[in-house]
Amino acid sequence: MNTAPAVPATAVTDLLDLESDLSPEELETRDAVREFVDRRIRPNIAGWYADAVFPREIVPEMAALGLLGMHIQGYGCAGKSAVQYGIAMQELEAGDSGLRTFVSVQGSLAMSAIAKHGSEEQKQRWLPGMAAGEIVGCFGLTEPTAGSDPSTMATTAVRDGDEWVLDGAKRWIGLASIADVAVIWAKAVDESGRARVRGFLVPTSTPGFTATPIEPKLSMRASIQCDIALEGVRLPADAILPENPGLRGPFSCLNEARYGIVWGALGAARDSFDAALAYSQQRIQFDKPLAAYQLSQEKLVNMALEIQKGQLLALRIGRLKDAGRLENHMISVGKLNNCRIAIEVCREARTMLGGNGITLEHSPLRHANNLESVRTYEGTDEVHTLVLGQHLTGISAFR
Ligand SMILES: Cc1cc2nc3c(=O)[nH]c(=O)nc-3n(C[C@H](O)[C@H](O)[C@H](O)COP(=O)(O)OP(=O)(O)OC[C@H]3O[C@@H](n4cnc5c(N)ncnc54)[C@H](O)[C@@H]3O)c2cc1C
Repeated sequence: MNTAPAVPATAVTDLLDLESDLSPEELETRDAVREFVDRRIRPNIAGWYADAVFPREIVPEMAALGLLGMHIQGYGCAGKSAVQYGIAMQELEAGDSGLRTFVSVQGSLAMSAIAKHGSEEQKQRWLPGMAAGEIVGCFGLTEPTAGSDPSTMATTAVRDGDEWVLDGAKRWIGLASIADVAVIWAKAVDESGRARVRGFLVPTSTPGFTATPIEPKLSMRASIQCDIALEGVRLPADAILPENPGLRGPFSCLNEARYGIVWGALGAARDSFDAALAYSQQRIQFDKPLAAYQLSQEKLVNMALEIQKGQLLALRIGRLKDAGRLENHMISVGKLNNCRIAIEVCREARTMLGGNGITLEHSPLRHANNLESVRTYEGTDEVHTLVLGQHLTGISAFR
């Protein structure tokens, strides 16, 4: 059960009427995803989260909404704008970060890798089925000993006649145990012994590929992350992604996912605010509703200010992306700020629910727990701080 109220057409946190800056198409996207979340996710999410279940049965419905590879043109994808994609992610994450993560891994990571770096044949083979939700993809970059610094990855791809042979291990790979195809990043060693990061499309039925879910988790319980073992995985020569400029290949996909997070985290924050507002309006203590106290109102005001500022930032970043003017450091601005404020909003909202706030009946602590993952993947707070520090000073402080 989830008692969080369905979101009214115009959110109360939209203090500056940002809604009036959205086009009819953008509002249509918002309303369609919001309706889906209210109908399919809100009534079930507490159970999925408690039982650590990823509800695979809703994948076709997300596909029908055009959410899978939403920003990709052609190949059965919806080809929507960056702002429409962002708005959809905000609504989806108001339901749960784990379900937004599914769309992110499938569309922004796995499908983007194929759309950006794949051959025409690879795109034709995989993208239409992935857009339809019939094929699930995953994206394997992180390793047990290579997280924030993927350049130290140990997975190798060695050429053996007409084949590539992959060996190594990946960790934290979303969807891997239910995926049909894995995009695996590995150091490809050529005949001269030179190693360069390249992407490979690995059907998960290939002998030597094993995915094991990581559990139990205290965050992202309605989604799947896995350890992957690659033991002598033999692939045909054309399994390699041909258009792949080294590590910039996976990084360009991560930027797509980071962009979705800029918006998505605000959905979790807004849902937590709504839960706190509704609760504080009806919960009586010391003879008055909690919302009547100045201390409560200060919390609500501070939360609403941060959400609205985050939305202004997300819309600006989205418009820049649609105009082809988005630079890497700008994505770091959005990812760092919006994850940071979202987790604070969720935690503050939880305080307003008192003891009841620690149950799964209410959303804020579930959202806050999920956001521990969101602030960690696609570049941690620290990594994005270092990106911005370098941008401001001209000095890299990564090492
Ligand atoms: C739920 C979830 C889903 C994920 N999904 C995927 C996926 O689908 N595919 C995939 O490839 N990966 C995925 N990841 C992995 C994720 O991208 C990594 O967890 C992330 O990059 C951080 O790496 P790490 O966990 O190894 O932490 P580490 O890199 O070991 O970092 C640990 C801490 O040290 C800090 N740190 C690191 N370097 C510095 C520095 N130079 N200065 C200061 N502090 C530093 C970090 O910010 C962090 O706080 C997922 C992770 C999670 C939790």
